[in-house]
Amino acid sequence: MSSSVNSVCKQIGLTLHMSEQLHDCVIIGAGMTGLACALSLVGQQHDVVVLDADNKPGGLLASYQFDQYTIEKYYHHFFSYDQNLLELIEQLELNHDLVWKKASTGYYHQGHVYNLDTPREILMFRGLSLIDKFFLAKAMLMIKRTKDFRHLDRITARDWLLQNTNQSVYENFFAPLLKSKFGSAADSISAAWLCARLKLRSNRKLKGEELGYFKHGFETLITKLVHTINETGQVKCSEKVINIKRNADETFTVQSQNATWKTRCLVSTVAPSILDQLAIFPESYRLKLEKNHSQSVICALIGLKKPLLKTYWLNIRSDSLPFALLIEHTHFHSCDNYAGEHLLYAASYQENEMGPLYRMPDPELIHTFQIGLETEFGLNPNDILWWRISRAAAVGPIYTINYLDTKLDHDTPWPGLFIGGMMTSYPERGLNVSVQQGQQCAQLVNSYLNG
Ligand SMILES: Cc1cc2nc3c(=O)[nH]c(=O)nc-3n(C[C@H](O)[C@H](O)[C@H](O)COP(=O)(O)OP(=O)(O)OC[C@H]3O[C@@H](n4cnc5c(N)ncnc54)[C@H](O)[C@@H]3O)c2cc1C
Repeated sequence: MSSSVNSVCKQIGLTLHMSEQLHDCVIIGAGMTGLACALSLVGQQHDVVVLDADNKPGGLLASYQFDQYTIEKYYHHFFSYDQNLLELIEQLELNHDLVWKKASTGYYHQGHVYNLDTPREILMFRGLSLIDKFFLAKAMLMIKRTKDFRHLDRITARDWLLQNTNQSVYENFFAPLLKSKFGSAADSISAAWLCARLKLRSNRKLKGEELGYFKHGFETLITKLVHTINETGQVKCSEKVINIKRNADETFTVQSQNATWKTRCLVSTVAPSILDQLAIFPESYRLKLEKNHSQSVICALIGLKKPLLKTYWLNIRSDSLPFALLIEHTHFHSCDNYAGEHLLYAASYQENEMGPLYRMPDPELIHTFQIGLETEFGLNPNDILWWRISRAAAVGPIYTINYLDTKLDHDTPWPGLFIGGMMTSYPERGLNVSVQQGQQCAQLVNSYLNG
């Protein structure tokens, strides 16, 4: 059914029984990838339905709603080179809602915070000796000169760094960064991924970079995206997809919690492990989905009466703390925007959702995090206003060795079913990639529908 027929039905208040409608495309997941895909498709006059399991859209970019403000459940910002995201923001006429600010990055080790924003600060970093810095610079030069890192996919970043720098550079510089990104999986991350990522990020400005954010948080973006899609399409929340089936007539039947949807095309933006449970795929594809491991994240947000740190972003090197990252959001976007409250995130990435920390009940987790903040960072418990805890499973691929052998493409064994998100992108993962992946899926859907 075309979007024009759909909108006429909407205007005259005619609701067709779901299963009688044949949609152009159903998208599973109303995170950034799914919404970017839907926006592209409605722009091409396709009839689109986006289904999300959660009770609100946005996925990892969703926000907590307080009386006077909204704030993301998981810390977010973007970069000036996030072209796809910035074009989308412009398309939605939200440019005037943006703020760009420099934000400090630090590294915490044994009671000291070292600022590491610029090459100069890295050069001054007391955690590395002169010889360490020489090794670090040599490795970076080698990375910059290398075009293809595929041959490094069979070796861990740890081994490569130990071979090409030294123990101290690995332990004092890279290990904490890898740990803050991949938690307990840090030691098995592939050298190919690390080098490709370092190469991509090595074109930093010498004075530290400006980060982008929305004056009133990312909720502005999600609300506008959903509103625009809903003009001719539908974004449906609390509609967890439980089954998908390819029919003999080459259409798909999608079963969600409350309804059944028929569609010519299907885009899945959920993690491979979730997609795997929704359908019976050919064995070889099922194995590929199974091999794509995703990590989980625990993220605490704490409202404080006073600032705790001096930096925005703090990577932490400590085996005794339950978190590897602290982000004091209000050092980036002032507490004036949050009714005078200071907002601090404490995050820990986990290899999966089976670990004790991930499964810990909230009160116990809060206690564990609070002890760490009190003992290492001098948090006064009287300064705590509130806590919020979010956990998310399958938040992004773990780029362990041999990842490239099983990296997933948009195409699947079923023509008309496409997948997109962090699992189809490499080596970057982030909002810009999500927009790009969503738009690429939309192009494939468009060609399929018009083919
Ligand atoms: C802690 C953290 C911090 C981050 N910070 C940044 C940052 O600062 N800058 C940046 O660029 N990127 C950041 N990212 C990455 C960014 O959040 C992601 O790139 C992006 O949000 C991913 O969007 P997505 O739509 O692909 O996935 P998701 O946001 O995970 O969306 C998937 C959606 O699918 C839904 N879903 C799952 N199962 C089903 C089902 N069975 N049926 C229906 N729906 C289902 C989920 O509810 C979810 O809404 C961060 C990520 C994390 C985890």
